[in-house]
Amino acid sequence: MLLYLLRWVACALALAAAAPALALSAGASPGVLPVSVAGTSWPRVLSADMEVLEDREGRLELSQVRALPGERWSSTGGHALNPGFSSSVWWIRLRLYNPQDLPAQRLLELAHPLHDDVQAWLVRPDVAHPQQHWHTGDRHPFATRPLDYRTFLFPMTLEGGGYLEVYLRIATHDGLHEAAELQLWDHRNLIRDAERLRFAFGLYYGALLALLLYNLFLYASTHITLYAHYVVYLGAFFVWNFSFRGFAFQHWWPAHPWWANQALPVMAACAFVTHGFFAMRYLQTRTCTPRLHRGLRAMQAINILCLLPGLAGWYGATLAVQAVVGCLGLLLHIFTGAVLLFRGSRPARYYLLAWTVLAVGIILYLLRMAALLPATPVTEHVLQVGSVLEFLLLAFGLADRMKQLEDEKVQAERAALEARAALTEQLESQVQERTRALEAANRLLAEMAITDELTGAYNRRHFNEVYAPELRRQARSCEGFALALLDLDHFKAYNDRYGHQQGDRALQAVSSAVRTLLKRSGDAFFRLGGEEFAVMMQARQPDAAQRFLESVCECVAELELPHEGSPHGRVTISAGLVFLSPHGGPHDPQTVFARADALLYQAKAAGRNTVASAVL
Ligand code: GH3
Ligand code: MG
Ligand code: MG
Repeated sequence: MLLYLLRWVACALALAAAAPALALSAGASPGVLPVSVAGTSWPRVLSADMEVLEDREGRLELSQVRALPGERWSSTGGHALNPGFSSSVWWIRLRLYNPQDLPAQRLLELAHPLHDDVQAWLVRPDVAHPQQHWHTGDRHPFATRPLDYRTFLFPMTLEGGGYLEVYLRIATHDGLHEAAELQLWDHRNLIRDAERLRFAFGLYYGALLALLLYNLFLYASTHITLYAHYVVYLGAFFVWNFSFRGFAFQHWWPAHPWWANQALPVMAACAFVTHGFFAMRYLQTRTCTPRLHRGLRAMQAINILCLLPGLAGWYGATLAVQAVVGCLGLLLHIFTGAVLLFRGSRPARYYLLAWTVLAVGIILYLLRMAALLPATPVTEHVLQVGSVLEFLLLAFGLADRMKQLEDEKVQAERAALEARAALTEQLESQVQERTRALEAANRLLAEMAITDELTGAYNRRHFNEVYAPELRRQARSCEGFALALLDLDHFKAYNDRYGHQQGDRALQAVSSAVRTLLKRSGDAFFRLGGEEFAVMMQARQPDAAQRFLESVCECVAELELPHEGSPHGRVTISAGLVFLSPHGGPHDPQTVFARADALLYQAKAAGRNTVASAVL
């Protein structure tokens, strides 16, 4: 697309360069000698051999032009005729002669495919009527061309020793002229050059098509829109370039010159705009540089607007505006790429590299145009090579971007997995913690369910649960078992005298004292209700059980809790003890309990603060 700008700049430069030359030669006969068509070096560039004439009104006929005095013609100073923006008709005259004896067949090439309106006449100097006349140009169907070739080729035959004058009339549709460079060929070399060019362009368009199809398939299989952007950009560039080089008119729409002309600004705008969309998405400008992104979007809108005059037929104006606006947009993109590169963006690296390669191509091309580099096949096609490399690098960049996205996805997935694992771990530890707390609460609840709140002894419910099973177990045990029922003495009187609260404190003190004595794991202490307690314990001998219960009574008495209502003067306890011998056979729990209760009453009756016992 930069060709566009180059072409425009070249027009302006050529106008500036040609103006003094034309002015100087005006009114003076250039005295250009006839060109010999003999020779061995082809093509022969005829810039120094042609005479030009500006027809401002565009009304001159061939006969009038031929009749004009020689001073009206001027030379271009060895350059191609490059009027650029000019609405005049330009005439070119060439005088050819054949110094050989044999006839010579030659081809005159007007080496740009986009001239709007071209007429060519072959005239013998001594004959009034032209020998041959063609009227063609890219505003006429392609079939009007003398030969089926993308530029303009005019065939001619010069008799041995004969002279021939060639008149070319070049008119423009809307005031923009292409550079008119004339070359003379012999058939053999023209065909050879045409084949060479065809091969080079074939390679070029083949490479672009391969990249396009490859990325199209990638898009079809991945549905990643960035590939689609690339494909559309490359496609637009392809069609624009194919049109610009004259191939599209020749091969795609030879009978539709109107569209052949419209296609150029339309496809140029498409290429600029699609490049813009691709670059913005590829460089992620929306998120990385929102301010520049807004500028780029505005540039896109202007690019699209630039297309409108082109559609209305103002081809030259469109081209000029489009070249400037499009290239400014391009520069803004490159600037954005540089900013992002500075910030460490990886896609920007490929993007700028791609444009650098193209810029090198452009510089080499300009150096060749300025004759600072020789015209070799490399320098001739350096722009094509540059643009293919640009697209190739962008494709690499695309692949790299996809890899980067893939890596980011993998990293994100890994992070998500790690986060999930951490969460699971945290949840598990929370669950464990909660479970432990729940278990502790359950244990506490279970404890509370079987514990008497006031005294901390097991409650009556627990006694009921364990009493009968314990008796059954004892029946199989080789150890003896003792059940003792304990009751505080004169406790009603204690309550009456010291108050209920003090009574509670006495119950707690007694309970605590008894529990400290019960050290063995099989021993258990229950509050059966009120001031009545029970002890279940393992014991080998009845005496041991008797002694233990007596020590309990002593221990309570030694608490020295004053009880003025009791003959003992302090809080005491009485106990009824039943000892079940080992292997004593199964005992009925009710009977055993009733016996213990009876023994308790016996102890009460015996004066209290004592133990009454029996062996079953
Ligand atoms: P004895 O020596 O014959 O056992 O006489 P006692 O007064 O101890 O027996 P009695 O059965 O007549 O009285 C039991 C008293 O125990 C009645 C009640 O005031 C008291 N008592 C029962 N439960 C509680 C309790 O939870 N707290 C308090 N402070 N007193 C209680
Ligand atoms: Mg009592
Ligand atoms: Mg009682």
